[in-house]
Amino acid sequence: RRIELKGDVKDEIYELAQTFDNMFKRLESSFDKERQFTSDASHELRTPISVIIAEAEYGLSQQKKPAKLVSSMQNILQQGKKMSQLIANLLLLSRVDNAKERMLFEKVDFSELTKFVQEEMRLEAEKKSIEIETFIEPDLFIKADQTSLMRILINLISNAIKYGKVNGWIKISVYKQERYVVGSIEDNGIGIAMENLPKIWNRFYQVNTARSAGDEHGTGLGLAMVKWMIEYHGGTIAVDSNLGRGSTFVFRLPIEPEPCVKQ
Ligand code: ADP
Repeated sequence: RRIELKGDVKDEIYELAQTFDNMFKRLESSFDKERQFTSDASHELRTPISVIIAEAEYGLSQQKKPAKLVSSMQNILQQGKKMSQLIANLLLLSRVDNAKERMLFEKVDFSELTKFVQEEMRLEAEKKSIEIETFIEPDLFIKADQTSLMRILINLISNAIKYGKVNGWIKISVYKQERYVVGSIEDNGIGIAMENLPKIWNRFYQVNTARSAGDEHGTGLGLAMVKWMIEYHGGTIAVDSNLGRGSTFVFRLPIEPEPCVKQ
């Protein structure tokens, strides 16, 4: 039975809808501005930072230098390189956002791609004596952008190594489930506390930078990018984790995505 709305209630609902509409429009335009800013700022920062790196490298290459200066120059170099990586990631992210970097959807052998990526990552894992086990269903053909798929796998596997335990293990499985391919990356590493789980997808979010201190600690952008790319393909990603025990990231990608799932 239809509910009859009185005139003033109708007006109120209409007004509310208008307000929401305006809010969304304002939000969208501020996202666009933020993206543009990110892109411009990263471009501007690239030149000075490469000068800093080059100068520090030059200084360090000199024969005569006061011992005290060496460590401070090494510091400049290390931080400079970190900044340069951050800028590169920012640029990549703003490009991905703008969808300028054209994605090319074509037939990809996801089984072979996964094999290839995990072989590439083995050396990195060996440095921490981490064993990689794989369960790869053969002939998983999927229509997708190959570069994105590689980035997704590299990010998830390198996180599993980065936040994995020395002498630990990583299990990588890919298989078909109805109209999807499913990828699962499981590690028995440091894990993520329940209250932090929803935040890991946010840009620049890092649970605890002290834990991943040193050169290898990242930028907090990896998972934001992974999520974006998976959703662009019409897929989903979820995580299950226990602090101190490990994490499992599971993503699903449609074998035949709808054209232009997200613009
Ligand atoms: P980062 O560059 O810091 O690795 P990410 O966006 O890839 O950035 O990840 C965000 C945060 O999520 C990380 O800083 C880390 O705290 C947490 N995280 C990601 N993957 C894992 C994992 N496999 N195990 C434990 N923590 C993880």
